[in-house]
Amino acid sequence: MYPASFEYHAPATLQEAIALLGKYGDDAKVLSGSQSLIPLMKLRLAQPAHVVDLRKLDGLTGVKQVGNELHIGALTTHAALGKNELFRSKLPMAAEAAGQIGDAQVRNLGTIGGSLAHADPSADWPAVLVALDASVVVAGPRGERTMKVEELIVGPLTTALQPGEILTQVRVALPPARTAGAYEKLPNPASRFAVVGVAAEISLDGRNNVQWSRIAITGLASKVTRAQGVEQALQGKAADPAAIKAASARAADGIELRADLSGSPAYKAQLAAVYTERAALRAVARARER
Ligand SMILES: Cc1cc2nc3c(=O)[nH]c(=O)nc-3n(C[C@H](O)[C@H](O)[C@H](O)COP(=O)(O)OP(=O)(O)OC[C@H]3O[C@@H](n4cnc5c(N)ncnc54)[C@H](O)[C@@H]3O)c2cc1C
Repeated sequence: MYPASFEYHAPATLQEAIALLGKYGDDAKVLSGSQSLIPLMKLRLAQPAHVVDLRKLDGLTGVKQVGNELHIGALTTHAALGKNELFRSKLPMAAEAAGQIGDAQVRNLGTIGGSLAHADPSADWPAVLVALDASVVVAGPRGERTMKVEELIVGPLTTALQPGEILTQVRVALPPARTAGAYEKLPNPASRFAVVGVAAEISLDGRNNVQWSRIAITGLASKVTRAQGVEQALQGKAADPAAIKAASARAADGIELRADLSGSPAYKAQLAAVYTERAALRAVARARER
């Protein structure tokens, strides 16, 4: 099916893009990698009269280190992130997740900012970036603001972005020593979206006990969710396989599970425990080497 007709805009500056969004209001949609918006438009689930393409804007792609943070342009594609040396060396969990998104076309066109703004409850970036306690920079008619990814994503396909706001950058603090993450997902065999995906970031103390952990799960609920039962169970414990297995059994504790075509709540709860254990074991192995 073809999308309904629309007017296409390709602004040259961020200010111009924000002005276009202000001018056309609810009739306008921003376009980044097109991998979620165009399918929605073809299904006529979205029918914007104006599409504002961000791809001609300067400065919204790439990864750079600024002090103790990585700054990632919102229009950086999944493929570019999977290959970026700085990104791979500093955030191996995030690089491995990038390589598991969709197929080659989706990875070459889809962007990290588009994925966060779209807020699909089975998307990979939200889990990885919540586990990394990442923030986003947002530009809008009232200037710039930052917020945690955990605050940005409020529900299925729903974010805290205000009308006219554009997500411009993702910021991740570099993990301290003896801290690392791993991402494990069961992909839907057709789309590769996560049936369940678990991002585990774990920090060890000098005796290999867990100092803290951030475990974020996608696919399980109506939005990315922290597995607080696991985080509490791991706290202060020896990071050994028995303790990790016992803690991982609590992956779905307190989470309102979402049934969908890929599985019942009971099946997803079981998957969450298994994939949490796998992710945590690999995160601990990486943390010991860092
Ligand atoms: C076949 C297929 C398989 C896929 N598999 C996976 C998968 O395995 N895992 C996964 O996580 N995702 C998957 N995706 C989704 C993919 O990652 C998309 O790239 C992503 O969801 C949207 O990014 P985009 O850059 O394409 O955004 P677009 O499609 O251009 O935009 C998506 C939405 O976000 C808004 N938006 C975009 N950029 C911004 C911005 N900078 N500021 C504010 N709003 C913005 C748009 O207005 C639109 O509402 C798949 C998609 C397809 C088609």
